[in-house]
Amino acid sequence: MNNGPPGDTLPAVATRVVVLGAGFGGLELATEVSGRCGADAQVTLIDRAEGFVFGFSKLDVMFGRRQAEQVLHRYAQMVSPSVRFIGATVTGIDPATRHVETTAGDFDADVLVVALGADLHPEATPGLVEGGHEFYTFAGACRARDALRDFAGGKVVVAVTSTPFKCPPAPSETALLVHEMLEARGLRDRSEISLVMPLGKPIPPSPAASEAVLAAFAERGIEWVPERLVRELDPARKVAVLGAGSGESGGGELPYDLFLGVPVHRVPQVVADSGLAVDGWVPVDPLTLETKFPDVYAVGDVTSIGTPKAGVFAEGQAAAAAARIVAKVKGRTPDTVYDGHGVCYLEFGHDRVAKVGVTFVAGQPPVGDLEGPSAALAADKTAFGANRIRRWFGHEWA
Ligand SMILES: Cc1cc2nc3c(=O)[nH]c(=O)nc-3n(C[C@H](O)[C@H](O)[C@H](O)COP(=O)(O)OP(=O)(O)OC[C@H]3O[C@@H](n4cnc5c(N)ncnc54)[C@H](O)[C@@H]3O)c2cc1C
Repeated sequence: MNNGPPGDTLPAVATRVVVLGAGFGGLELATEVSGRCGADAQVTLIDRAEGFVFGFSKLDVMFGRRQAEQVLHRYAQMVSPSVRFIGATVTGIDPATRHVETTAGDFDADVLVVALGADLHPEATPGLVEGGHEFYTFAGACRARDALRDFAGGKVVVAVTSTPFKCPPAPSETALLVHEMLEARGLRDRSEISLVMPLGKPIPPSPAASEAVLAAFAERGIEWVPERLVRELDPARKVAVLGAGSGESGGGELPYDLFLGVPVHRVPQVVADSGLAVDGWVPVDPLTLETKFPDVYAVGDVTSIGTPKAGVFAEGQAAAAAARIVAKVKGRTPDTVYDGHGVCYLEFGHDRVAKVGVTFVAGQPPVGDLEGPSAALAADKTAFGANRIRRWFGHEWA
């Protein structure tokens, strides 16, 4: 029970806040709590990765707009004296005692926050690793970039393989960006693009956004295949086998020359082993982000809170949980609650981006609006990323 590297000394009264996972949710939570509590809280942030990459940066790398090195924000370069970053893999979580085991030692928390996201499993879809490409991991996006670069035209299938999946607009963006890339390379006339989605509409909470995306598909000749999933690939015959999505009917096959897939998502194994997950994900109070264990919170993709798995929602949940933790540290009654609101950017290609505001409130149907697409909103999206890197890492995104 060492709470960190030997030699560390903590103020006797500091509340030990241990944050597992330095992604969208963990970075926001650690920044907020440390910034607002000062010496009253000792914030420890633990992650196994070399650095943070925005989800949307994977598309930038895949379509050759950015080099891989330009989108990796190394934790070693984080300038935040009040957050102690530990580069380690979390190997055990006991939520009852708030005791955590990692490859860099054990940690005990007064307040524990689980922000470990969703793990991706391309191997869970038969044929995907051998015969296709997933583009949701950083390494997968780099391989998909190479495959797109070498592609000489033919049938492209962009598809989701299971639900839930992160960032529901991302497959639609991918289809639109494939179109843009093939057109720029003079390959569009001898290519077909199909998009297989489990949902009935591209962006279900926002009818206006769904209409705009479907109109863009129609204009560009992109085939929209709703309420279906790709269950497996047969690499020998180069076909994707379809299953049912949100509707009843499945069945059928789609031939492909290039398959770009969204892989199966699961809660990280260490979370499953901890007893925190129920039916696959961690249930939380949708207003307070508390799990059923006292002083244990969970935010972001690891939860079953009911919002889409997206960074903006992870960030909003982290901000609400942080406000409650700060109140507790300062001896006040927490009164902040999560509002279920998030604003997503949606790439249409040709440097045009739309903004979709969505609100999810438990027990009510979600509502959403649409702004754009426009070139001005592309600049807005760039500023969104830059602001977060400045706030979380303490330096400019070069
Ligand atoms: C292609 C693509 C495009 C996207 N575009 C957008 C977008 O435009 N807008 C948007 O809002 N969202 C977008 N997303 C979704 C967004 O990236 C995620 O929903 C968001 O990162 C979730 O935040 P999180 O904090 O819950 O988890 P994550 O950001 O995934 O962070 C989890 C962290 O936990 C760490 N971790 C996991 N297990 C362990 C362990 N055992 N030990 C130590 N560390 C561990 C991981 O290394 C990771 O850093 C996109 C995703 C993809 C794939």
